[in-house]
Amino acid sequence: MKKFNGKGVYGAVAIGKISVFKKPDAAIKRVRVEDTEKEKERVAQAKAAAAEQLRKIYEKALKEVGETNAQIFEIHMMMLEDDDYNESIENIIDSQSVNAEYAVALTADNFAEMFASMDDPYMQARSADVKDISNRMIANLTGAAADGAETNDKMIVCADDLAPSETISLDKDKVLAFVTAHGSSNSHTAILARNMNIPAVIGVGDEFLAQINDGDTAIVDGFTGEIYLDPDEQTLAKMEEKRAADEEKKRLLQDLKGKENVTLDGKKINIYANIGGVDNIGAVLLNDAGGIGLFRSEFLYLENTDYPTEEQQFHAYKRVLESMAGKKVIIRTLDIGADKQVDYFGLKKEENPALGFRAIRICLTRPEIFKTQLRALYRASVYGDLGIMFPMITSVSEVQRVLAVCDEVKAELKEQGIEYSENVELGIMIETPAAAVISDKLAPMVDFFSVGTNDLTQYTLACDRQNPDIEQFCDTHHEAILRLIEMSAENAHKNGAWIGICGELAADTTLTETFLRMGIDELSVSPTFVLKVRDAVRKCDLSK
Ligand code: PEP
Ligand code: MG
Repeated sequence: MKKFNGKGVYGAVAIGKISVFKKPDAAIKRVRVEDTEKEKERVAQAKAAAAEQLRKIYEKALKEVGETNAQIFEIHMMMLEDDDYNESIENIIDSQSVNAEYAVALTADNFAEMFASMDDPYMQARSADVKDISNRMIANLTGAAADGAETNDKMIVCADDLAPSETISLDKDKVLAFVTAHGSSNSHTAILARNMNIPAVIGVGDEFLAQINDGDTAIVDGFTGEIYLDPDEQTLAKMEEKRAADEEKKRLLQDLKGKENVTLDGKKINIYANIGGVDNIGAVLLNDAGGIGLFRSEFLYLENTDYPTEEQQFHAYKRVLESMAGKKVIIRTLDIGADKQVDYFGLKKEENPALGFRAIRICLTRPEIFKTQLRALYRASVYGDLGIMFPMITSVSEVQRVLAVCDEVKAELKEQGIEYSENVELGIMIETPAAAVISDKLAPMVDFFSVGTNDLTQYTLACDRQNPDIEQFCDTHHEAILRLIEMSAENAHKNGAWIGICGELAADTTLTETFLRMGIDELSVSPTFVLKVRDAVRKCDLSK
């Protein structure tokens, strides 16, 4: 047995077999070959297999999501047959005497770059598609596709690091736990693991990856961050016990379902849930959340290979609102950029992405994307109690511009005779120090604030949330952060707005009483933490 240490980001125990996550393009090596004809034959076989796979996916999509959404796979099939694409692969093999995988990867890079540099947004979006079909070809060449298809058991997925888009594309029903060599606890991957209720340990180091193989048995302790590789009988028994005790504790919390979020002295608070997609609604309802305090709508964009259409978005938002049956649903507009990169947006590489072209900055610069999303949101608003929230606000003028676009969208809908609700609450995220400091000016402009403590911590303490090496300096309880939250709460209430917290700190029950004393009206947490926070609220006595 070997033991490794990382940082636990979702407390639960998992015992099972390891599956090493392979990034298709990261593993490609350039190998010199003698027999170039053989490589070209391998390409032909991989292509035939890809065409067959795409045909099946297209048929499945046609049945499940309709023709418009299935079209993308038709485009993939056409790209696979594209003469320029195929000639490029053959030329690279012939001229450089290299392996098929390398020729496909190089062609993919060249074509993707060419598409990304075009002016037409439609052509730019093809950049992601050419990478997608090439990854499929490479998976067929390396046999990676077959590997993934074989197992039906839930596995402990181990990776160097996982990007949010990679995490979201994993089949959730097959993931028992996440373990990554790198990554930080406030990253979106860690947040996704929490949302998905999956034990996760990050930052175990390269040594761990070097020692594991597919199929090895391991125990992941998401509470302590410990990983046991090939555990002995004694450890196995001890950890089985820990897992059972944890499950029992979580089961006991179930008794709080249907109970109020009220302190011993009678103060009530809303406890809502954070979600990343329509799939999470089951967990929201199961854990008895009073509403949705943050729907990270960017995951609709991350799941797609092209801009989601107004229609696609409308259906997703409508489904969330209908499923919540009149309970509050706060949908945050697109927060792409920084660690959440989407190829088809064709964003430039930046020195400091967290301080760069992100979230509302993209929306205000590319109004066609913003307006499509707002139209979908307003159209869906008649199906429930919708709130719209805007991320990464730093100034009054940004809010003015945002509100003007909302008015424009509503006026257009009205003119077209399309229904929308007049009762949509509009709010902003307080996740930059600037927004907190001028919260007295911002509060009169909106209905609510929602504090994004993940970014507020990053920007206040100058600590990159993606960098695991500085976690010791990233004190989420820092007085500066608590003062900014308190200041925002005071300013919200003075101006008739309400205030919630939707960052990860909202689930930190050592702060529940502090937040209640500040007058925070709502805490929005991963669905699995709703009952834990309710328990903490019910144990508080603010009269003392
Ligand atoms: C935050 O910054 O606290 C937040 C809730 O937004 P995200 O984690 O999606 O950046
Ligand atoms: Mg944020």
